[in-house]
Amino acid sequence: MTTATKQEAFDAVVVGSGAGGGFAAMGLAEAGMRVLLLERGRSFEPARDFPMNHPDWELRPRAFRDTEITTGDASIVLEEGALLDQRYAHLGSSSRPGEVPKPRSRREPFRYERVFGLGGTTLHYQGEAHRFPEHAFRPASLYGLGVDWPVSYADLAPHYERAEHVLGVAGDPANPFKPPRGPFPTPAHRLSYASQRIATAATNLGWTLLPNSLALPTRSVDGRRPCQRSGGCAQGCIFGAKSSVDLTAIRRAERTGRLQVQTESRVLALEMGHGGRVEGVVYRRAKSIFRARARVTLLAMGAVETPRLLLANRSASQPNGIANSSGLVGRFLLETLLAEVTVRFDERIDAYKGPPIDSRIWNFSRPSRDGSVRSGYVLGVSGTLGGFHGPLSHALLLPGLGRAHKDAMRSHFGTIVTLFGIAEQEPRAGNRVTLANTKDSDGVPLVRVESGHSDADLLALDAMLERVKELARASGTAEMLRQATTYDVPAASHVGGTCRMGTDPGTSVVTAYGRSHDVPNLFIVDASVLPGQGAGDSPSLSIQALALRTAEHIVALARRQEL
Ligand SMILES: Cc1cc2nc3c(=O)[nH]c(=O)nc-3n(C[C@H](O)[C@H](O)[C@H](O)COP(=O)(O)OP(=O)(O)OC[C@H]3O[C@@H](n4cnc5c(N)ncnc54)[C@H](O)[C@@H]3O)c2cc1C
Ligand code: SF4
Repeated sequence: MTTATKQEAFDAVVVGSGAGGGFAAMGLAEAGMRVLLLERGRSFEPARDFPMNHPDWELRPRAFRDTEITTGDASIVLEEGALLDQRYAHLGSSSRPGEVPKPRSRREPFRYERVFGLGGTTLHYQGEAHRFPEHAFRPASLYGLGVDWPVSYADLAPHYERAEHVLGVAGDPANPFKPPRGPFPTPAHRLSYASQRIATAATNLGWTLLPNSLALPTRSVDGRRPCQRSGGCAQGCIFGAKSSVDLTAIRRAERTGRLQVQTESRVLALEMGHGGRVEGVVYRRAKSIFRARARVTLLAMGAVETPRLLLANRSASQPNGIANSSGLVGRFLLETLLAEVTVRFDERIDAYKGPPIDSRIWNFSRPSRDGSVRSGYVLGVSGTLGGFHGPLSHALLLPGLGRAHKDAMRSHFGTIVTLFGIAEQEPRAGNRVTLANTKDSDGVPLVRVESGHSDADLLALDAMLERVKELARASGTAEMLRQATTYDVPAASHVGGTCRMGTDPGTSVVTAYGRSHDVPNLFIVDASVLPGQGAGDSPSLSIQALALRTAEHIVALARRQEL
């Protein structure tokens, strides 16, 4: 390996270009700062790299498959999950249609879904763009779950609005479960036929099914094509319509001329200087090691890699790692609480036509203090979540051989939909990321992830599974093909909490502006800062709004010479 120092002086270096890093880089560059954005993965070209341009797209590996932790570069030591509470054995998952869930004693190994690439996990995400509801910022005071945030909905509202405009979010402002707001930048998607069917059942149950708010613009934004309703967001949008961060915030930042993006550059260490400040970062690109220096460093590697880097940078003066005087780096990991049923109708509903998650039911987002369930949760309808999408996935998943298989294809194709719920997990210090004894090829320690369920989590999973089954029955479905929950099979797509924000340096890692309590020129702008999960809503828009708020704060500090 050779070592070199990047000579240009940057005002800021941002590490990681996903939901948080991309938006922070944009916020800083648009405000006049010179920014270096270092991204471990490569950049993707939608028309060239994503598989849906080919008829056999369902058989092709996803473009970013090798960058996902489950299949490619493993950062987590795979080991058995937590012991399962057998009182909830009925929540067990089946993996194939018609299969009875197997009894297990432990959870499967922790499975973290993320992408290394310019745009981070937003390359893979389904574009749900949710403002967290007001109550989700005060869950401890209002219904006794977790901690209150050091920021309120009102603090974030202007940043939510800015992020929505950058993304061209499509939505309907008439959502009685959310704070009043102005129009969305682009009109809401029309409901798919499947969602219309399920809306009627929801109404009969006294619930309200509403169009989802999505970063899949219904009109052209910044010269990009509007969403073509192909349902392929998780494979990568071949039309470049999905508002992943590479096509939105990073492009805008590049237009300022003040952002330098460097892909395939993995940051390995932070360099500490006098006065407990970060002087810069050390990174590897191909076979060379580089150093980059900046006045301020922002970490945005996601809720596993950010604590990993901080914990791995131990020294005599910082025996617990960087920014970890509280001992909380890596703790209070929040994973995804998900329960779903995949069901079949007796007729075609063609749920695969339209955005992957085009509707949501928010009736259960606000728990009551007297209720048994203390986690807010949100139900949804998806044509693709259960694994059935186009003809080939049906052919692979449906049972039978020869004529029986052909008959199953004829009777099942276009009749299947998945009803699901996502809940807020109770934050607990014991759910955490720690360093393992083994190292990867760059010499960085792997991590162990310990994540189990509290009583509140199990009650929420149970309640969601019951509700989605209720919804399926009320919709007149013919058959339940499979159920899956994260009780036994983790599917951690919404991960956060490992460097949480707060006002007290004893109980949090960063301030309400993402600034380390210990290191004055170190900021964190990814999912790790989230103290909670928004009562079941999806996190990216909140990560993006918080990153914009942090960027604005850094600019103000720099102007006052306080960095
Ligand atoms: C299948 C799926 C669907 C989802 N759907 C939605 C949705 O519809 N709506 C929603 O709000 N959320 C969704 N999410 C969650 C959402 O994608 C994440 O919450 C969000 O992207 C997290 O943002 P982040 O900035 O913390 O991390 P990421 O977006 O993961 O970005 C981290 C970046 O850091 C880079 N990096 C890591 N280590 C290093 C290093 N050492 N040096 C340099 N770079 C590094 C990575 O390559 C990556 O680009 C989904 C997630 C998945 C997996
Ligand atoms: S649903 Fe829309 S945004 Fe998603 S992949 Fe298809 S065209 Fe692209």
